[in-house]
Amino acid sequence: MPLFTSLARSLPATVPFVGPEAIERRTGVPFKARLGANENVFGPSPNAVAAMAEAAHGSWAYGDPENFELKQALAGHLGIGFENVTVGEGIDGLLGYLVRLTCGPGDVVVTSRGAYPTFNYHAIGYGASVDFVPYRADDHEDIDGLVERAKALRPKLVYLANPDNPTGSWHEAAAVERLITELPEETILVLDEAYCDFAPASSLPPVTLMRPNLLRFRTFSKAYGMAGMRIAYAIGQPDTVGQFDKVRNHFGVSRVAQAGALAALKDQDYLREAIAKIISARARLADIALRAGLRPLPSATNFVAIDCGGDGDYASTLLEAVIRRGVFIRMPGVAPLDRMIRVTVGRDEDLALFETALAGAIAEVGAPKAA
Ligand SMILES: *Cc1c(COP(=O)(O)O)cnc(C)c1O
Repeated sequence: MPLFTSLARSLPATVPFVGPEAIERRTGVPFKARLGANENVFGPSPNAVAAMAEAAHGSWAYGDPENFELKQALAGHLGIGFENVTVGEGIDGLLGYLVRLTCGPGDVVVTSRGAYPTFNYHAIGYGASVDFVPYRADDHEDIDGLVERAKALRPKLVYLANPDNPTGSWHEAAAVERLITELPEETILVLDEAYCDFAPASSLPPVTLMRPNLLRFRTFSKAYGMAGMRIAYAIGQPDTVGQFDKVRNHFGVSRVAQAGALAALKDQDYLREAIAKIISARARLADIALRAGLRPLPSATNFVAIDCGGDGDYASTLLEAVIRRGVFIRMPGVAPLDRMIRVTVGRDEDLALFETALAGAIAEVGAPKAA
């Protein structure tokens, strides 16, 4: 008799991401700059660090399984109700719960080809099949294409990241609202707003816009600089958000993470400063790409996708050569986005390391074809 379900036996033995630690173990060379995972290298608010250090003394105790204080603070901050928020162990964790709540074998979900892969990973893990809409020629997710596919397939979930990872592109709120309005009632829109803190205000529908089939996901991992704490939240109507309470891991969010997120949320001055630093470093990063003869894509995030032209072979050769020089970066895995490398914004010293590594890499592998 098999030990595991037929679904588990059908899944590839894989993890969605190869971490920089694994690359360091493989090459034996530690990275000098870590610019591959869209972390905020400027780090969390000192107030959050102090709150987490304090909470560490209390870490013999479980966290509050209702995340009460944080939910209350988030609701106040956003101007929505306490019952419109649920907290979980990162957007990644919440996506897993959502797929579990909505999908089983035979169900379909829709996303963009080359979009954030963790959504697909969970969908496949619960037996759903993933249908893909290509990105538009201008490297934006194709909202009209998503609507059309949703109307044809009546999927359980449609995924959209706005702003987008891996391209850094964004849609205006009106386009997102059109997607919200036009989706079939039986399809939930998974609106991943991991990068909303960096986005122009005009790209975010009002947070009070709610529908039974709309969930928005936001995180402390990116602008707040707390990726290692694993804490994020979802926003939606009470009946929709409340479903997570049926399946979520009650103690999945640690006491330390709860304390850190609460203190980080209260320190909006620090957040504003961090965002300003990132936006100015993003311009410098784009400039480094231009001067190397590459084409930086406009970005509303804390990273820049850099079009290297040609096909995926050139970008991946270049990426490997940058990595060999001790700078961790990543690239989209799927054509046609795989002609890009994706570099996270860093401090001045990180960007200087990247600039040198990029110049050395281009000298080694040859100049790009016109992008
Ligand atoms: C980084 C990222 C996430 C992961 O968020 P966590 O809260 O750290 O799990 C989710 N979605 C997108 C689009 C991201 O880029």
